[in-house]
Amino acid sequence: AITLDRVSKRFGQVEVIRELSLDIGAGEFVVFLGPSGSGKTTLLRMIAGLESIDAGTLTIDGQRSEKLAPGQRNLAMVFQNYALYPHMTVAQNMGFGLRNIGLPASTIEARVREAARMLEMERLLDRRPAALSGGQRQRVAIGRAIVKEPKAFLFDEPLSNLDAALRVRTRVELAELHQRLGATMIYVTHDQTEAMTLADRIVILNNCRIEQVGSPMEVYARPASRFVASFIGSPA
Ligand code: ATP
Repeated sequence: AITLDRVSKRFGQVEVIRELSLDIGAGEFVVFLGPSGSGKTTLLRMIAGLESIDAGTLTIDGQRSEKLAPGQRNLAMVFQNYALYPHMTVAQNMGFGLRNIGLPASTIEARVREAARMLEMERLLDRRPAALSGGQRQRVAIGRAIVKEPKAFLFDEPLSNLDAALRVRTRVELAELHQRLGATMIYVTHDQTEAMTLADRIVILNNCRIEQVGSPMEVYARPASRFVASFIGSPA
């Protein structure tokens, strides 16, 4: 489980997160939904250990975050811009993180092959990113997370660079991936449809705080504020 207790964050004069508390259960699919600038990415980066916390505590499976370097958190982050290495093949891109932690080549190869099978990318393993479509690149980025066999996946707007049809397809695949792996998924988006279709629980952020936490049905049927109602598109 991942627990935030009165976590705060500011960048200079700009307050981004104010005393935010939240429990994320193992295996849960949690979506952070909010307008641009509401601190979603910052929150995700704090969980990943890529951003410090000013106040409050973050615990990951009972361990305080200050004791855990990013590499010790058993998390894998999938970025919006994919962040692939252009000079490496798909297989090398997927396996890179595992080579870094010194896993044997045979283990890396087996995990890459399994992830490629899951993502239907087996035929593309020898290609370089330049020879892939946007959707295929996004799959490589997801594959690179899968091979780490993390307890939790952190997604930062993973579909925002895809066209509409591919967005729907990839969304369905992410839901299937969650079913299959049973891992915790923490997913940032400003897209209400993605949140409504993917989430077990939606966390709606606005003005540095949580406006509401609930299942998609709850936030839709019983919005806690006018902001939530208009943002989710609840009936007036
Ligand atoms: P978007 O949907 O546009 O990606 P977001 O909800 O993910 O937005 P963040 O990226 O977390 O929002 O940014 C929250 C606020 O913090 C913004 O005002 C942003 O300008 C500011 N911010 C983020 N990172 C930094 C940084 N490294 N230095 C200074 N300010 C930052």
